[in-house]
Amino acid sequence: MGRKKKFKPRIFLAPKGMHDILPEEQKYWERVRHMTRTLFSFYNFGRIDTPHIEETELFLQSVGQDTDIVEKEMYSFITTGGDELTLRPEGTAPVIRAYLQNGFVNRSHPVKLYYFGSYFRHESPQRGRFREFNQTGLEIIGDENAVADAEIMHIFSILLKELGISDYVFHVNSVGCKDCRPHYRSLLLQYYRPKAKGLCRDCKRRLKQNPLRLLDCKEEKCQVYKANAPQLLDNLCEACKKHFTMLLEFLDEGQIPYALDMHLVRGLDYYTRTVFEVFVNAEPKPNQKPEVEEIAMREPEEGEEEKAGAKAEEMKPEPVIEKVPEEKPMSLKGIAIASGGRYDNLVQLLGGRPTPAVGGAIGLERLVYVMKMLRVKTGSSSKNKVFFVQLGDFAKKKSFKLLEEMRDAGISVGESLGRDSIKSQLKIADKSQAEYSLILGQKEAIDNTIIIREMSSGIQEIIPRDRIIDMLKKKLKK
Ligand SMILES: [Zn+2]
Ligand SMILES: [Zn+2]
Repeated sequence: MGRKKKFKPRIFLAPKGMHDILPEEQKYWERVRHMTRTLFSFYNFGRIDTPHIEETELFLQSVGQDTDIVEKEMYSFITTGGDELTLRPEGTAPVIRAYLQNGFVNRSHPVKLYYFGSYFRHESPQRGRFREFNQTGLEIIGDENAVADAEIMHIFSILLKELGISDYVFHVNSVGCKDCRPHYRSLLLQYYRPKAKGLCRDCKRRLKQNPLRLLDCKEEKCQVYKANAPQLLDNLCEACKKHFTMLLEFLDEGQIPYALDMHLVRGLDYYTRTVFEVFVNAEPKPNQKPEVEEIAMREPEEGEEEKAGAKAEEMKPEPVIEKVPEEKPMSLKGIAIASGGRYDNLVQLLGGRPTPAVGGAIGLERLVYVMKMLRVKTGSSSKNKVFFVQLGDFAKKKSFKLLEEMRDAGISVGESLGRDSIKSQLKIADKSQAEYSLILGQKEAIDNTIIIREMSSGIQEIIPRDRIIDMLKKKLKK
């Protein structure tokens, strides 16, 4: 190691592709958390939290060694003790690992679980992809009926609607089972082999390792081959055909908007039968400016630094950050907001008994982005109707007690305790659109009184300190 390096103070940025969730965004996240919690538990899913790190082999075995995730995108490392570990790139394999480890096998089936957390993939951070991203997902383990597949999609559909997102479509396909897929695979190879020269580099590799993923190629030169390739749906076995037909009947019945997508295969090896992706049309509503902040690192808007607290006044201007990475505004065109499918072989692959299962996950950064784009109401108004203004050390000392009384009474109140000038505090009160200000100065603190000021009229009254809570309650009820 040698001598320790001496560092100069500098401004640090979050690692590329990772982001902060700021206070002003939390109302969206809170709404999503609340909605998923109520909806998922209504449908009898139990929450499960698994570690952020798992044995690397878990993902090699489940997601598949020839997939993009395993080949290029996993954050894997070896500990000093020699353990090979990986930051979880997806949620299903860890849940199945936990299902097997914790004896869920012996509970009554189906076992229904949901998760909510962050996942890690080393992707190129563009177009709505983050390297640390949040997902919530559902798994139904031990049910082979198509109604389970439909239930996952139905719940996702309700969630989107409840969050105010109405323009969405489920792309669905069936990738067959271990009985019919080998046959289809050989048909695909027969078709593609003579055309190998014309394929892109990735597809040449797929031809050898994972032919099904040829259908997933986005390269221009491969599209013409893709269009004429034999189709999965034409080559399903009877059982898979029946399963898929049932699913579509459930979707029709549930009025879930869907489209058949013959080329949908998904990037993970463990899928069998149903696969789906959900796309949202997130054009901002006409005549409405979307409430979207394009990049996290930006200049404070006018007046914003004032809100950041009193210290800002005395602070020198922020040092200019050079070379802030240019992040393009997110576009969800062609990017799924949710996805999932059936994975009937996974439990067995991970050492359990053959157990059919199905699941799906929603990308929460994308979901929140759409909510902002569509100016979805979050239900929580964070506006404080009352603003507390204080002057002098004695009044400051009395402030916490008063604020606690207001909290007990359920009155939300804005404050700027760090500020000393009444004028600047009233300016903030005005900006925050509070209806009333409470002013506690040196004199009032000694006399045990407080001034209440109606912000719209500027009319002030002096009130005995012990009557202020009741009075505010009455005034705010009107
Ligand atoms: Zn089949
Ligand atoms: Zn290709």
